[in-house]
Amino acid sequence: EQRLTAVWVQDWMERAHAVFAAERVALIELDRAIGDGDHGENMDRGMTAVAKRLAADAETSQETPTPAALLKTVATTVMANVGGAAGPLFGTAFLRAAKATDSVSAPDGELDGHAVATALEAALGGLQSRGKAEVGEKTMVDAWAPAAQAAREAAEAGGDATAVLAAAAHAAEEGADATVPMIATKGRASYLGPRSAGYRDPGAVSTVLLLRTATEAALE
Ligand code: ADP
Ligand code: MG
Ligand code: MG
Repeated sequence: EQRLTAVWVQDWMERAHAVFAAERVALIELDRAIGDGDHGENMDRGMTAVAKRLAADAETSQETPTPAALLKTVATTVMANVGGAAGPLFGTAFLRAAKATDSVSAPDGELDGHAVATALEAALGGLQSRGKAEVGEKTMVDAWAPAAQAAREAAEAGGDATAVLAAAAHAAEEGADATVPMIATKGRASYLGPRSAGYRDPGAVSTVLLLRTATEAALE
């Protein structure tokens, strides 16, 4: 059965670095419509720092790290560099995912489909404990919640790690699209009230980008 290693995390973060650089302006424009216009910059800066940090660690460390150890480094780097609302939220999501995978992974730390689903559920739990948003409030939770649920369903159906990630990415995409008609009741976009309707939530779109790059890295 396919299992994800630390190389997957490294590959994922390199891809995320490239994708957030490419989508920087689009995310800025989304956040300009219903926020303060910095989301693309926040994410690009954060993922640049993550890619740099993982590359530096790979060069200096002697042993092969576990996926959980790398996810923890991602979490702390995201928290320190993304800023805004998204930094602590994504940071907490990665940190909880790291902790969860520590307990459910194979003895060598590698991740199967069930471990990936557990990580995504833990990520959702982390960002909800931090941001207190429920589904329907037009935040990144609207992408993460269906993603975690789809991941668990795919794992229960016997899907391998890639299938679980692909199901999560697909569900996140539908969840991000579903934020368009919503009126924001959490975060900066809530200041706009009904005028926040008509746009996709930037953090939900970033969630899609993260899960899509995670899937692509797993396909390699
Ligand atoms: P800021 O709003 O501080 O400028 P960003 O623009 O980087 O930060 O991030 C905005 C995103 O953060 C939103 O699109 C939304 O997805 C997410 N967000 C904001 N508040 C919350 C919350 N309480 N719970 C979950 N997500 C939130
Ligand atoms: Mg913003
Ligand atoms: Mg801001």
